[in-house]
Amino acid sequence: MNKQQIVQQELNKLQNSRIEKELALKSAIMKARQIPQYLELDNKSRKIQLEISKLDEISDTNKKLHTELEELEKQKIEVLQKNKFNIEALKMHYFCPICSDTGYVENKMCECLKHQVQEALIKQSGINNKLNFTFDDCSEELLLNNSLLYKAYKVAHIYCDNFPNNKHNNLLFFGAVGTGKTFLLECIANELTQKMNYVVFCTAYDVSKTMMHAYSAPYSERNAILSPLFDSDLLIIDDLGTEPLFHESVLTNFFTLINERQRNNLPYIISTNLTPDEIDSRYGNRIKSRIFNTRVTLPILFQSEKDLRLYKKKDD
Ligand SMILES: [Zn+2]
Repeated sequence: MNKQQIVQQELNKLQNSRIEKELALKSAIMKARQIPQYLELDNKSRKIQLEISKLDEISDTNKKLHTELEELEKQKIEVLQKNKFNIEALKMHYFCPICSDTGYVENKMCECLKHQVQEALIKQSGINNKLNFTFDDCSEELLLNNSLLYKAYKVAHIYCDNFPNNKHNNLLFFGAVGTGKTFLLECIANELTQKMNYVVFCTAYDVSKTMMHAYSAPYSERNAILSPLFDSDLLIIDDLGTEPLFHESVLTNFFTLINERQRNNLPYIISTNLTPDEIDSRYGNRIKSRIFNTRVTLPILFQSEKDLRLYKKKDD
């Protein structure tokens, strides 16, 4: 499926769900109108609405009718409540109130549709996007017991608040295994996704797999496959250094990716268990100096004070 087809597919989904909701709403209205008292009030209010539609917007009669209409609406709700009718069923609950589930606003694709398309693209690219943790899951006890993690937590919070206008566009989480890097990455990804940013969260292994997939796919499909990596609002690469380096091309592709994102001012966050020296020997100086470019990247060290706390618990 190319991007055009994905857009069409997501648009159809949105519009079908709108049609379903409209049908459900119609049947709820019919059910409510079976209550005689409601039917009477509803007929009155329909008549007034019709009159209003024929009138000048600012006439006195119009104002009077609006007041009457409001009164009728209140009475209708009272009748429904008395009859234990589910009032919510009489409201249209759009998935997206901005475009009323049409997918477009003033001929431009609405953010909701964009988001759906992006998610479909991520799925197609095979990138793992299952995230568990949010900032709310951060244990205060854990943060207070680990000053480095606490500092990182604060940086991550500020990064999300200012996104995408951070002084340092990119973050680099480095330090040993099990020090909270992935946890915090997931918090950031969840937070920014909730704010309608197109965040792609993947492992370094996913990146090289996606790249290899793209370069073996037909040329016409390449952009769609690579788009999540190159065009997302934020790219998060977890666990750099654990992916197999099958081929020299993996390194070239990775360099191109980081370079392009820096050039286009598109933020990324990388986490790694490797030390700067290990990154140098594994990826070469060219990639290392790109990753550690402190003009655009803020490196954050993670260390294992957490283990101490866990041991203490065990002793208890
Ligand atoms: Zn929308």
